[in-house]
Amino acid sequence: MDKKIIIIGAGLSGLVTGYLLKKQGASVQILEANSRIGGRIFTKVNHKTPVELGATWLWKYNTGLIKLCNELDIELFEQKMDGDALFEAMSAHPPQRFNLPPNQEISYRIANGTSALIEKLADNIGHDFILLNEKVHEIQDQQTKLFVKTETNEFIADGVISTIPPRLLVNSVKFIPELSKDLVNTANETHTWMKDSIKFAVIYSSPFWRKEGLSGVGFSNVGPFTELYDHCTIQEDKFALMGFLNGALAELNHQQREEKVVTQLQKFFGEKALAYISYEEKVWRKESLTTIADHKFIFPHQNNGHEIYQNLFMDNKLYISGTETSKVYGGYMEGAIRRAQETCNQIKKDWLS
Ligand SMILES: Cc1cc2nc3c(=O)[nH]c(=O)nc-3n(C[C@H](O)[C@H](O)[C@H](O)COP(=O)(O)OP(=O)(O)OC[C@H]3O[C@@H](n4cnc5c(N)ncnc54)[C@H](O)[C@@H]3O)c2cc1C
Repeated sequence: MDKKIIIIGAGLSGLVTGYLLKKQGASVQILEANSRIGGRIFTKVNHKTPVELGATWLWKYNTGLIKLCNELDIELFEQKMDGDALFEAMSAHPPQRFNLPPNQEISYRIANGTSALIEKLADNIGHDFILLNEKVHEIQDQQTKLFVKTETNEFIADGVISTIPPRLLVNSVKFIPELSKDLVNTANETHTWMKDSIKFAVIYSSPFWRKEGLSGVGFSNVGPFTELYDHCTIQEDKFALMGFLNGALAELNHQQREEKVVTQLQKFFGEKALAYISYEEKVWRKESLTTIADHKFIFPHQNNGHEIYQNLFMDNKLYISGTETSKVYGGYMEGAIRRAQETCNQIKKDWLS
């Protein structure tokens, strides 16, 4: 395949697409706006403890993801759930302790963090083919080629694959000529998974909750955290709790959220919860490379995998990909992989037949 393909975005979709196309011998360049790869996959390492501030779990029906992990020699392990859980029904009462029923659908984590998968993909593609800090802001159709402009550079390609979430794509990239109204309207009504979430993790020197027969699992109607899980490493040598905060807390600052989380952890686990090493968080609503800053309500997964994303645009040179365009498991890591495979198959069919 002697055509040059530009992939926009070095999240899971962009990297899997690059990995598959390179295996087919294609000439690929990935343009990533951020100073890091991974997109909504972000394992932060502090005090040598990896904590997931983006995607964390996979399930046995995620067959594409499991196959990819096997191929890249990435180890998986079960989310620890054994022990009692805590439920805070209302602010006036202490959390209630209850027995978790046996897990119907086991969640798995990626050893050393989900970013290990991202790094392995990038190693296989070759880091020279992934350009960071290249935010695409214009795509121009010029007969047989597409001109892709970033703030500092201009690239020419025979084909472009966008993996930017569709709603962000149509609101942050200028297309010359303009994209069809149908596509823009559909993209504007396409949900971006987890766009409003706030993920946090608290690192400890020991898993003190386990000694008391607790799983680290907690649920709360009160907040600020609504869900909590054990987040220790596969080696069981680094210890953390990780969870989700009520989205309304995006209005507070980091320190205010930290104070509120620690106060709630004290309610759940007592004084020991106060002796933490560090508090980490990510407010995805404020991540301008994932979502646009508005509060429009779109139903979760709405228009994910919409038929319109099966079409090609800009005279058959632009492919719109990314997890939200996948008909199956759209929004999840599995959707990103399935869609990358589909896009690569389509390119093979379009360009090699
Ligand atoms: C908090 C949270 C928890 C999650 N938990 C899970 C989970 O447990 N299990 C699961 O399966 N999934 C989970 N997900 C979803 C999962 O992270 C996504 O399905 C997957 O990572 C999406 O990959 P993607 O490449 O399609 O999109 P993204 O990861 O969003 O990648 C898009 C890339 O495009 C880049 N970009 C944006 N604009 C431009 C531009 N103009 N020019 C160049 N580059 C640009 C971005 O920086 C980004 O790197 C979670 C997501 C979040 C945020």
